[in-house]
Amino acid sequence: MAPKLVIIGSGWAGFYIAEKIDPHKYDVTVVSPRRTSAYTPLLASAACGVFNFYLAEDSVRSKSRKQIHFLKANVTGIDFDGKKCRCEPAFDDDDEHLPVFDLSYDLLVIAPGCIPNTFGTPGVEEHAVFMKNVSDAMKVRKILFDLLEKASLPNTSPERVKELLHIVVVGGGPTGIEMTAELDDLAHKELQDLYPGVGDKLSISIHDIAPNILSAYDKKLYEYANTQLVRRHIEVKTNSHIERVEKDCFYTKEDGRIGCGMLVWATGNKNVPLLEELNVRKTQKGLKRILTDSRLRVVKAKDENALHDGVFALGDAADIDGASLPTTAEVAVQKAKYLVEIFNSMSSDAAAHSPFKYEQKQLVSYIGGRDGVIASKDNDHEGWTGRSAWLAWRGSNVTWNRNLRSRVMIVFTWALNAIFGKEIAKI
Ligand SMILES: Cc1cc2nc3c(=O)[nH]c(=O)nc-3n(C[C@H](O)[C@H](O)[C@H](O)COP(=O)(O)OP(=O)(O)OC[C@H]3O[C@@H](n4cnc5c(N)ncnc54)[C@H](O)[C@@H]3O)c2cc1C
Repeated sequence: MAPKLVIIGSGWAGFYIAEKIDPHKYDVTVVSPRRTSAYTPLLASAACGVFNFYLAEDSVRSKSRKQIHFLKANVTGIDFDGKKCRCEPAFDDDDEHLPVFDLSYDLLVIAPGCIPNTFGTPGVEEHAVFMKNVSDAMKVRKILFDLLEKASLPNTSPERVKELLHIVVVGGGPTGIEMTAELDDLAHKELQDLYPGVGDKLSISIHDIAPNILSAYDKKLYEYANTQLVRRHIEVKTNSHIERVEKDCFYTKEDGRIGCGMLVWATGNKNVPLLEELNVRKTQKGLKRILTDSRLRVVKAKDENALHDGVFALGDAADIDGASLPTTAEVAVQKAKYLVEIFNSMSSDAAAHSPFKYEQKQLVSYIGGRDGVIASKDNDHEGWTGRSAWLAWRGSNVTWNRNLRSRVMIVFTWALNAIFGKEIAKI
């Protein structure tokens, strides 16, 4: 009988393994509350109508992967000695209270990712929008168009229009900046035509607690990004401390009440609840992550030299002891590739393989107006800005999506957008 491989999570890491594993060698089961995997770098573009939502995700179930089992459930605990996972069916409208069940494994891959960190800021859970899945991207688009319609009503006062059409993005990292960039592009083009006299009143602010936006880049590049955003009339508020968020406004320590129609929370990661339940070694500072050895094997809680048999962890929820890497899709996919190579090889014993080695890729961010920044991997070069960075970023959008049909559709939609404009109002 083929060994049972259980994969926890259908995100960048879990989905890649499910897609590339040899299904004749393993009896594979993916357990996740989501039956799709989001191509997260494409979410902001999908929210702003650069292409259709379905191109920013892929389904775990597919004709080409019919041997892979999928269970729509959350893993709530793992019995490492008994080699089984406790699973709780995950349905929003579970009136039947579907019973929990156990799932046994020979090999286990733990990849549940992270959840957004609100840093305990009151009102964020209730009133902010997150950007983690296609459903979030759809919500952003729906709210945006509702705000524009409200602002278009004859009895909406100019003061109210100003607040309704103030969009706030919290987080000056690549995710927040790309969201801002796509929104600003939309405001400068399609919204001007669709909402004459209203679209041009849309304003965007970025708030970050840090002294700079895009702080992962060199000073010259983040200063360039800041200048370009300000030039495009985007308000960049660094060193901004958000104290609470309400339905139509938020409060900062520095400026008090600020009215807004939508606040997108794009900052920080927090561990998923499952991590609290696991008897494994975890990072002690910052984001709580499962610690693995250099072959991605999970280390026991009490003895740093002992490994849990047949258990691997990767993606945002895990880190290599002594060789920390950022929480990015790039890292998740490189680790997933490494594990697939081990699992599909003649010897699936990780000890027989060389340790995982991360290959640093170029950091690229879009800042709007067909402009972007690229960090150089070479210390002597200060990086690139402008149209070449935008083209590099657009190019990487195609490669993030691994589905050939979707890639073709993305390129085709760009071509149609260039000729006819975005189809955003019709979706
Ligand atoms: C908007 C946005 C843009 C981004 N852009 C980039 C980019 O340009 N480049 C880059 O490198 N990175 C980017 N990232 C980061 C990247 O998305 C993450 O690093 C990546 O998703 C991590 O992959 P993962 O598989 O660990 O987790 P995820 O992709 O988050 O997947 C985790 C999966 O586990 C499931 N899960 C959670 N808990 C459980 C449980 N208890 N039981 C079972 N399943 C569970 C979740 O539902 C989900 O399916 C971006 C992130 C966001 C949000």
